[in-house]
Amino acid sequence: TSFAHFGFDEPLMKAIRKSEYTQPTPIQAQAIPAALSGRDIIGIAKTGSGKTAAFIWPMLVHIMDQRELKPGEGPIALVLAPTRELSLQIYNEAKKFGKVYNIHVVCAYGGGSKWEQSKALEQGAEIVVATPGRMIDMVKIKATNLKRVSYLVLDEADRMFNMGFEPQVRSICNHVRPDRQTMLFSATFKKRIEKLARDVLTDPIRIIQ
Ligand code: AMP
Repeated sequence: TSFAHFGFDEPLMKAIRKSEYTQPTPIQAQAIPAALSGRDIIGIAKTGSGKTAAFIWPMLVHIMDQRELKPGEGPIALVLAPTRELSLQIYNEAKKFGKVYNIHVVCAYGGGSKWEQSKALEQGAEIVVATPGRMIDMVKIKATNLKRVSYLVLDEADRMFNMGFEPQVRSICNHVRPDRQTMLFSATFKKRIEKLARDVLTDPIRIIQ
């Protein structure tokens, strides 16, 4: 597979070429067509697989389709990640490619300044990358809301659960519109993640790295 198979528009293709990625990684080759067709995805993949771009590129296409259709406030895409470090990595990747379309990205993680993060969210962002607890805090203080979220990514779900974020992850999923597109990535796929997948995904495609 080459990047040309995905049907991305020229601005995004140009940004991908600029990254000097020569070809899609296996997870990208499998996940991107499924994501572009609107399917829910379970990806069993580790860091280094290229999974971030696999959910960011289709996310940008989704946002470009949605943002004129549904003008408003609050993010269209929400990514939940276990740690500050991972959320910043995803944030940087989303910013790098999102800038092609002037898409705004905000990162909110536990341990960071709530004041700064809430100010950034109030400016408006089509993409929010957050740790689960901090996302709930931000919704509680009304710095943002989940009303417009229609593309939801749970990254490193097993690590989020190991860190005790299962109730927060489930609560957020329960408050995002049910007709959303959902992607769940996890390095392992044990009982608890399997149960989450059954509860939050609709007819998912399973992709194994
Ligand atoms: P990730 O697994 O998403 O954390 O990505 C691991 C690293 O691979 C990141 O530094 C990406 O920038 C890079 N990367 C993502 N996609 C590709 C690709 N198709 N070819 C080469 N490198 C890539």
